[in-house]
Amino acid sequence: MTLRGRLTTAFLVVVLGPVLLGSIFVALTVATVSRDRTAERLDHAATTVRTSMAAACRQLQAAADAVAVVAPGDRPAVADQLIARGLATDIRIGAPLARSSKSRSESTTEVGGWQDCAAPAGGPATAIAARAVAGGVDITAAQAVDQEFFERLAAAGGTDVALTAGSAAVGEFRLVRAEAGQPLGLTLTVPPSRPTFLYAALPVVVLVAALAAVLVARWLAYSTTRPLGDLAWAADRVADGDLDTRVPILRPDELGRLAATFNRMTRELQAYVQALTASRDQLRGHLAILGETLSSTHDLHRILQVILRTALAATGARAGLVLLIDPAAGQLVPRCGVGLSGNWDVPDTDLPKRRLPVGEGVLGAVAATGEPRRGQGSPTGAEPACLTYVAVPICAPMVAEEPGEPPATTETLGVLALYDRVGGGPFDDADLHTLRTFAGQAGVAVHNVRMHEEAQRLSLTDPLTGLWNYRYLRESLRREVERASRFGRMLAVLVLDLDHFKDVNDTYGHAAGDAVLSEFARRIRVGLREVDVAFRQGGEEFVVLLPETDAYGGAIVAERLGAAVRGRPVIVEGESIPISVSIGVAVYPEHGENSPQVLSSADRALYAAKNAGRDTYRLAEPVDVTKSSVSSSDHEGNFDQATTVPGGLRPQQHRRGR
Ligand code: GH3
Ligand code: MG
Ligand code: MG
Repeated sequence: MTLRGRLTTAFLVVVLGPVLLGSIFVALTVATVSRDRTAERLDHAATTVRTSMAAACRQLQAAADAVAVVAPGDRPAVADQLIARGLATDIRIGAPLARSSKSRSESTTEVGGWQDCAAPAGGPATAIAARAVAGGVDITAAQAVDQEFFERLAAAGGTDVALTAGSAAVGEFRLVRAEAGQPLGLTLTVPPSRPTFLYAALPVVVLVAALAAVLVARWLAYSTTRPLGDLAWAADRVADGDLDTRVPILRPDELGRLAATFNRMTRELQAYVQALTASRDQLRGHLAILGETLSSTHDLHRILQVILRTALAATGARAGLVLLIDPAAGQLVPRCGVGLSGNWDVPDTDLPKRRLPVGEGVLGAVAATGEPRRGQGSPTGAEPACLTYVAVPICAPMVAEEPGEPPATTETLGVLALYDRVGGGPFDDADLHTLRTFAGQAGVAVHNVRMHEEAQRLSLTDPLTGLWNYRYLRESLRREVERASRFGRMLAVLVLDLDHFKDVNDTYGHAAGDAVLSEFARRIRVGLREVDVAFRQGGEEFVVLLPETDAYGGAIVAERLGAAVRGRPVIVEGESIPISVSIGVAVYPEHGENSPQVLSSADRALYAAKNAGRDTYRLAEPVDVTKSSVSSSDHEGNFDQATTVPGGLRPQQHRRGR
């Protein structure tokens, strides 16, 4: 049964019950009162009828007496006179009236039967009479009991009057017995005086009241349950996700308040969901950028920046900082920051100057212990000022040394810190968890970038000497020539080849030869400027690029490198191994228009140096486009003519060969 049905029923029970009881009570009361009133009326009528009859009897007796007292001869005249005056309907002198008796049938009224006022015999009668005797003569004065007589009685008593024997009583009635002075047995009746209107009206009133009650009950139930129905409908829609649903507020009653509260609740839920959706979309955008960045670049700074921004978006922090550990210095180097204030509000390029010692302060402690920290209030020392902070370690990804073995303890690479959560509260466990996720990403990124750098380095360097390899030489030479061409500068290229190195191997063994190569590479590095780059081209051949250097500068370096080994044997396991080197020098753009040409010019110059007896250098000859090739004999002649080479460095003064 619905709420509306229950309310209707309850209202009807409450209202209709009393209505019905009341109407029954009214009906009963009315019936009692009307019965009492009838009885009263009948009592009154009986008294009046008796009095009237007694009066009539006395009148008849008086008439009879009046006839008796006069002389017998005057009696008929007096009698006529009395009849004419209406004191009796008949007066008989001498012959009595036929009397009525009980022995006669009560159902018949005999005309001429009379009842004596003094001693009524009872039963029906057509007349009442009074007797007087005078001188043995009966004188009877009679009054006819006719319709007119009864009407007079009825008028006096206010009821219907009939002879008891002759009338069938209908409705309320009273019997008046015959007695002396009242000779007739009479039945007094009042018409059935039921308040018929009332009895007809009462059910109508009850019916109307019931109808009205049903209508009111239905309206009440409807007006009460309709807002509830609306609310239930709206709650259903909200549960289905339609947060635009609102309930109409019909009246400012309790249900109206409920509806208003429901609307407010839905509005706030909607705002909350919108904010949540917006921040989710924002986070999704950041995560997309993060994913793209992680997969597309090895630019560590950009990766760290994107990770930091994503972490800020995910936690709603105001500012953040990423620091990486410099293990050699035992310091934390800030690499990128967002939203920092005060001394820390500097470009990322200036951040690395604000190094922090590992082990000191909040960030230092996180870096030293690998344990996250969070708290309120600015950390002491040089760390960024804040109201709340959370800092987690950036750890290298855990990789098991051997498959199946638990991973070794991870290395802490740095620290990721966030400051001042929006909303003011301290960072909670959820924030810490989120931040650890991003720190994990940062750890993988840093690790990957370092691995990549290492791989890059390994693929471009020579493992024996640590110098750049031939692959990198080609790329560097092309790049340097291009740069020199663009800026109109010179580039000197030196090609070095150890003399009689086969003999070194043959005499001291291959391992000693390797050691000599390694030592030679070191001496080359030592003898160069920072901008100069040395390569191992292969075997015992090396190349050195000298940016911004002309033939004169190249010759000076060649001389210095030759001097670095000349007379300074390499000691390998106690053995002193003397070595020397021959060098060819070429300069861009003098000795070639492009990198291969310059390199081959340098090669030819080396060949010339070898031919000149080794342990010396030669400068390449300028490129002559008309010549298709250069003969080795040109080297020597050219070298001698080389005006760029200062006299003190004349190559022919060097020792030749061994
Ligand atoms: P020169 O250059 O003065 O004409 O004589 P050379 O003996 O140096 O002649 P060549 O260039 O023909 O020989 C190079 C030798 O260097 C051959 C090889 O045994 C040796 N060699 C090349 N690479 C390595 C290396 O990586 N380690 C060692 N130990 N020896 C090497
Ligand atoms: Mg060689
Ligand atoms: Mg050689």
